[in-house]
Amino acid sequence: MSGGKASFSEISVDPQPAGFRAVFLVETRDSAEARDVSELFGELESRIQVKQLCTGKLAGYAVQMHESDSSLLDEIEATLKGQYSFIVTQRSFDEVIYRIVKELCTDTGSRLLSVPHCNICGRTDPFPNIVVSLSDEQGNSRACRNYCASCTAGSTATSNKEFVRSLLASDKRNFREIERAELVRRPSRKQPIRFRIKASV
Ligand SMILES: [Zn+2]
Repeated sequence: MSGGKASFSEISVDPQPAGFRAVFLVETRDSAEARDVSELFGELESRIQVKQLCTGKLAGYAVQMHESDSSLLDEIEATLKGQYSFIVTQRSFDEVIYRIVKELCTDTGSRLLSVPHCNICGRTDPFPNIVVSLSDEQGNSRACRNYCASCTAGSTATSNKEFVRSLLASDKRNFREIERAELVRRPSRKQPIRFRIKASV
């Protein structure tokens, strides 16, 4: 492995601030109702982050918003309660609600959709706090790693470079080729923060 050509040539680090989170689960009676729920959350996507958790008879969505006023979440809840008979809502996202989503999917024959997992602790997280993308020489994305808020909060790194190194070092996947390489910050004023990976020879 040593001295080999690195398959990754660039790292980009995209921090996503954590906000208010909620989960909405709706049991629909037919495909028309399922379509209405899907439209409602589709419209919300322009205002808040929306991640669909499951599809079918049970429609499940996780949302995250960054305004300090969470009245929009009350509105969504009231709208759903006014129209559907079976609703589960929670004003956070955790493994317990995710287990409920999985169980209800099994019970209703609904399909669980893929949701990001923290690549350090393994926790399910629809809105990872840090997303690290690794691309090759041609700029094609070769890997995407997600890190949750608690794993990223534990870092004592004093620079962005040290921070991304510490995340990749804690990642369950082995990124030893990057650990040995030199990272060169690419000039950019905006997010994401980019580094060029200079493979050590
Ligand atoms: Zn984590």
